[in-house]
Amino acid sequence: MFNLILFGPPGSGKGTQSENILKAYKLVHISTGDLLRDEVGRGTPLGKEAKKYMDQGFLVPDEVVIGMISSKIDERPDARGFIFDGFPRTKAQAEALDKLLEFKNTQIHLVLSLEVPEAELITRLVKRGETSGRSDDNEEVITKRIKEYYAKTEAVAGHYDAQGKLERMKGDNSIEDTFRQLTKEIDKYLLPA
Ligand code: AMP
Repeated sequence: MFNLILFGPPGSGKGTQSENILKAYKLVHISTGDLLRDEVGRGTPLGKEAKKYMDQGFLVPDEVVIGMISSKIDERPDARGFIFDGFPRTKAQAEALDKLLEFKNTQIHLVLSLEVPEAELITRLVKRGETSGRSDDNEEVITKRIKEYYAKTEAVAGHYDAQGKLERMKGDNSIEDTFRQLTKEIDKYLLPA
């Protein structure tokens, strides 16, 4: 099994690159943002709770997100591996994920961090907001999401750097160039399926 975290601030290209990676390597994609938006769309109690935070650009509480992840992993015992996108977003989530995977006799193998300058992130997210229909893709909430990233999420990189699993790379080249860079790192662990 091979487990990958695609890491980076909002707008760094995690979603786009996850799609490319999961197709090439046949990994199971777990995006907590997508899972939460699905809960919001279905109007579940979890979705109603999460929406309050998401609409304001704040992170949803750790226990809500961690509970969701555990059941998603259990749903796919046949998986070749998982690609985590938008998770973990706090040090507590990273510690919980490490424990969860250890319990399942596996681990995170690689964390690929997409580095994009802040001005470029804002430009990308505002542009995405014109078509995404997302309630958090407007300039006011975007600024808060990026602030949350630096306040709470950036520390996750340090957590995995200390384990020797972090690779940083430029995320503002073309989609194709970035994908090539990512695959160069992944191929050291797993070849395309
Ligand atoms: P994303 O689609 O990854 O940009 O996530 C959209 C929003 O969902 C974030 O701004 C948070 O409010 C919430 N969210 C997604 N993933 C997480 C997570 N791992 N922890 C806490 N909140 C999350």
